Amino acid sequence: MEHPENDELYKGLKVNKGVANVSSVSPYLKRGLRRREYTPSEYVEGILRGDITILSQAVTLVESMKREHQQLAQEIIEKSLPYAGKSVRIGITGVPGAGKSTSIDAFGMHLMHEGRKLAVLAIDPSSERSKGSILGDKTRMEDLSREKNAFIRPSPAAGSLGGVARKTRETIVLCEAAGFDTIFVETVGVGQSETAVHSMVDFFLLIQLAGTGDELQGIKRGIMEMADGIVINKADGDNMEKARLAASQFRNALHLFPPADSGWTPQVLTYSGYYRTGIREIWKMIGDYVSFTKQNGYFAYKRNEQSKYWMYESIHDTLKEAFYHNPSVAGMLEETEKQVLKNEISSFVAAKRMIDLFLSTSGVKPIH
Ligand code: GDP
Repeated sequence: MEHPENDELYKGLKVNKGVANVSSVSPYLKRGLRRREYTPSEYVEGILRGDITILSQAVTLVESMKREHQQLAQEIIEKSLPYAGKSVRIGITGVPGAGKSTSIDAFGMHLMHEGRKLAVLAIDPSSERSKGSILGDKTRMEDLSREKNAFIRPSPAAGSLGGVARKTRETIVLCEAAGFDTIFVETVGVGQSETAVHSMVDFFLLIQLAGTGDELQGIKRGIMEMADGIVINKADGDNMEKARLAASQFRNALHLFPPADSGWTPQVLTYSGYYRTGIREIWKMIGDYVSFTKQNGYFAYKRNEQSKYWMYESIHDTLKEAFYHNPSVAGMLEETEKQVLKNEISSFVAAKRMIDLFLSTSGVKPIH
């Protein structure tokens, strides 16, 4: 069978038709309008109405580094929280080329046909894509991006993994308040970001490919252990048998792992994101997992654990930021580092001095 990549319809790069007379003046300026600024309550009302423009603007505030935006964002999140939490959150990971975009488009369209509302978010602290190209993401998921019940948002701009992940976690709250009942959090399966995604989703889906015989090579054990479901993509054409073989190898490998805390046995399925076959079965698996863990209490337990985790993450982040932004600390840090390098003081004494300086300049008595 011809590989789909050779298909005219499946070219990675798509050139859109241009517009004949592009206006050089922003339509806002033309009409003498500035973008309206809303109060936190107005934002929340808009979000609860499912107003996508307001939701997007609120997400932009969440992602902003500016202090005043952050304050506003926190107020919006706080007010949205009572309306959040009712979705199923699914983490999707796989190495580049595994077919995440193609699959999310396929999974998403399946959900659209079921009348669901889907938000697709991403955690990708490293890549070019995280520079905020919404267009890039739209062309990645062509069908889904045309759906009014789908909200696609690229990863927050590059930064520390913890920071990027926290923003995505906060965006989940806003999307849920806006009525999205299914949330995808996509990440590229090559770094630490899986752990971050795992800490904010209910179900963790690992996309794999049938390889050249040694399928299990290169897959970090930790990632497999996190997975609630492993799905082998590109089970189409000549690749069908290989995909089935890979699936049975994965099933065997999973037997070697200790049972998961959820009591759920991870399943392995094959499918084709491109031909959209086997998608219903994947959805059935996720539905079964949700019913199973809701029944045995694990679903609620995991969400509580995640809330706790994020509380501590937030404390650590805030303390770290306050420490490094403290002017006295910032002024002394380099000098202290030099002393350590010259073996004049030990690392521990140096650290204690800096912490004491931080505490005393923050009005807290140093620890002895
Ligand atoms: P991502 O990097 O994980 O987002 O992967 P993409 O969705 O961009 O897919 C990478 C490539 O895999 C694409 O160029 C497709 O040609 C191919 N691909 C994706 N899904 C399938 C599938 O179900 N079958 C086949 N044969 N190829 C696929």
